[in-house]
Amino acid sequence: MKRLFVFTCIAFIVVTCNWDEGLDVDSDAGSDAANEELPLIITFIDVWQGDSSLFELPDGRVILIDGGDEGYGSSSVIPVLDAREIDTIDLMVLTHPHADHCGGLDEIMNHVTVLEIWDNGETNDTYPYNQYVLARNGEGATLLVPDRDYSISFGEVSLTVMHANDGYEDYNNDSLTIMFSYRNVKILTTGDVEREAQEDMLFLYGSALACDVLKVPHHGSSDFHESFVMYASPQHAVISSGTGNQYGHPHQESLDAYNGIGAVICRTDQLGTVEFTTDGTSIETNCN
Ligand SMILES: [Zn+2]
Repeated sequence: MKRLFVFTCIAFIVVTCNWDEGLDVDSDAGSDAANEELPLIITFIDVWQGDSSLFELPDGRVILIDGGDEGYGSSSVIPVLDAREIDTIDLMVLTHPHADHCGGLDEIMNHVTVLEIWDNGETNDTYPYNQYVLARNGEGATLLVPDRDYSISFGEVSLTVMHANDGYEDYNNDSLTIMFSYRNVKILTTGDVEREAQEDMLFLYGSALACDVLKVPHHGSSDFHESFVMYASPQHAVISSGTGNQYGHPHQESLDAYNGIGAVICRTDQLGTVEFTTDGTSIETNCN
C-alpha cells in the first residue's frame, strides 16, 4: 500500500512536471503582460549578393532566414548575432538551396546552437549546399519541410508558409515564402520566387499578400509579376543585393514597379544592413 502511495505521488509529480513543461513550450508567452511592450525586430543583414534576415521575437525567440553566400555567415551574420548576444537560433530557414542563401549557414551552425531547421526539401550537389547538409546533420536540429499553408505561432508572432516546393524546374520558384504577422504588422519574406510562383500566390491568396514590409523577391530581378507588387503593396520594399553583382540586381523594372506603388525602397547595397522595429502597430526603421 505504501509503495502504491509513493508510486502515485511520483506519477503525480512527473505528470505535473510534464504538464508545466508543455505549458512553457506551448503557451502564448508573447501575450504575457510583461511582454506587451516588447518589440519585434527584423534585420535584413547586408551579405552583399545574397539574403539573410534575422527576426528577434518579442518572447525572446530568434528566427534566421538564409545565411548569405560562402564566407558571409562568418563575415556578416555572425557579427550581428554576437553583437546581440544571440547564441541560440530557435528556427533557421533555408528558402532554397542556392549558394547565396545556403552558403553561410554552415558557418553559423558552427558558431551558435540551432534548434529547428526548415528547408524546401530540394537538394543541390554543390559545395555550399553539401556543407550546409553536413552542418545540419551535425547540429542534430529538428528538420521540417513545410507545405504551403503550414502555420505556427510563437507568442503573438505567427508564420504562414504561402509558397513551398512545387516542383518547379527553376529552384528560385520553389523558395519558401513566409508571412510573419505581429498584431497589425505583416512582413513577407520571399526568397527568390519569380513570376510563375508569384502568379500561383496571386491566384491562391490575392489580397492576403498585403504586407507592410516585403523582402523583394530575387534581389529585385526583372522576372516578377506586376500584380504581385500591387497586391503585396508594401510600405517598405527591401532589396538585398550587392554592389557590382554579376546579375545587375536590382533591375530597373523592379525599382520602377515599387516606386510606382509609392513604396520606400530599402537597398542593402546602398544602406547596408536594414532594420525594422515594431510594436505591432507602428514601425521604426533606418530606411526612410
Ligand atoms: Zn538569391
